Amino acid sequence: MKKIFLTVGPSQLYPTVPGHIRQGLKDNIGSISHRSAQFSEIYKEASGAVRTLLDVPPDRHVFFFGSATEAMERILENTVEKYSYHFVNGTFSKKFYTIATQLKKQAEIYEVPLGLGFDLKKANISPTTELICITQNETTGGTDFPMEDVYKLKKLYPKAFIAMDIVSSVPYVKIDFSKVDMVFFSVQKGIGLPAGLGVAIINNAALEKAQYLLDKGLSIGSFHNFLILAEKEKKFQTHETPNVFEIYLLGKTCNDMITEGIDKIRKETEIKAKMIYDFFDKSKFRPFVSDTTVRSKTTIVIGTNGNSVPVLKYLAEKGFVVSSGYAEMKEKQIRIANFPSIKISMIKKFLKAFASME
Ligand SMILES: *Cc1c(COP(=O)(O)O)cnc(C)c1O
Repeated sequence: MKKIFLTVGPSQLYPTVPGHIRQGLKDNIGSISHRSAQFSEIYKEASGAVRTLLDVPPDRHVFFFGSATEAMERILENTVEKYSYHFVNGTFSKKFYTIATQLKKQAEIYEVPLGLGFDLKKANISPTTELICITQNETTGGTDFPMEDVYKLKKLYPKAFIAMDIVSSVPYVKIDFSKVDMVFFSVQKGIGLPAGLGVAIINNAALEKAQYLLDKGLSIGSFHNFLILAEKEKKFQTHETPNVFEIYLLGKTCNDMITEGIDKIRKETEIKAKMIYDFFDKSKFRPFVSDTTVRSKTTIVIGTNGNSVPVLKYLAEKGFVVSSGYAEMKEKQIRIANFPSIKISMIKKFLKAFASME
């Protein structure tokens, strides 16, 4: 049976992806040199499509990494001499913090339990903080970090950089790039591609900080430091042999999303999210995040009263794959993805299948 993957990552492929994979194979994209003009065109198309889709200003850099996790490490290495600050309410935001400690940064943490948002008044950010790390959509708890709060932070701490993880909210989240310095994502969630590529959008101030740290005699990492990435980007090249096929697919898929229309994608995301929350608000299984102002529109967590295993099994028999809860929530929750690859008709069928179980 052809299954529908409402999983929070990897997830349902964007509908045009299989066609692009077939075309890419026909065009030998898996065999071309990463030093060829053809590759530079692929890089250019992909970074151009990301820029258009997310409305990125032209002075920003678009860098490719192996994953979003790698982007966290690179951002910390290149923009923090000593002090970073982390909003933590789940595993991915915690990971960003842990990487900072592994890199021996003095990382401050403001942690709240899974499923809760933050109170900015309680964020005690010291004036020496160089980087504020925000997980815009915490996939493990199903919470959203409101963009108004991100912009407030930039206003309150203009000297600190803001880095934002948008892995599970891209391309839904609308960003004013004049108020955010660094943004990153990987492609296996909101973009609907197979896993294996990270993308970061970085401003020039961050590059200047990397240069400053290097001039000071500090390490900013090796082949994937911001300065080398920017140097290579000028020619639409990479230092190492990158995931050429995936960069190719990224350009094609983002262009398809541009054709579909980002406003339409965002509107449909909201319609589908409302369908899902409305359904579960009336179900015996309730949305985990009770504060509606921080409920994620793209990764929706539902409490199952300990019944995740039979629920997942039942749904699988009906052709739907959803995620279990994360870590210790494995048997207590399920997580439902609401990415652009998942259409309104699929959500309707899914909710019908769910209703038939109750
Ligand atoms: C999945 C996820 C990551 C990790 O992405 P990788 O591609 O595995 O590095 C980071 N942050 C968030 C919010 C995620 O959902």
